[in-house]
Amino acid sequence: MSTVFGLIIQGKLPAEKVFENERILAIKDIHPVAPIHILIMPKKEIPNIQSLEKEDWPLIGEILEVAQKIAEEMGIADGYRLITNNGHDAGQTIFHLHFHLIGGKVLGPMA
Ligand code: AMP
Repeated sequence: MSTVFGLIIQGKLPAEKVFENERILAIKDIHPVAPIHILIMPKKEIPNIQSLEKEDWPLIGEILEVAQKIAEEMGIADGYRLITNNGHDAGQTIFHLHFHLIGGKVLGPMA
């Protein structure tokens, strides 16, 4: 069964898209924790980092490339955080792999 992000990818739920190609989608987080809070995800339904298979590694490289591009476009290339929560204990709530690109303010220490 699809997650919220799966439904957004399928066009069944709305989202504010900032980047899209055949493999990757980036959207604005609905509850931003900083002035810039973007979620970058593969369109392939992969639950999280721990479930990645070897064939998926190129997607991770492409996600990093997209993060770089968005950070540049949004003027935060000098300081941002790129994180992914893996599993319940890390606070993952949507089990479709995504990276939070967070910036636009001075970020505090990691928890
Ligand atoms: P995580 O806790 O790492 O799984 O992150 C899930 C993120 O998705 C949270 O930051 C939510 O605010 C965000 N989120 C949940 N639903 C939506 C949605 N429909 N559109 C955009 N972001 C969402």
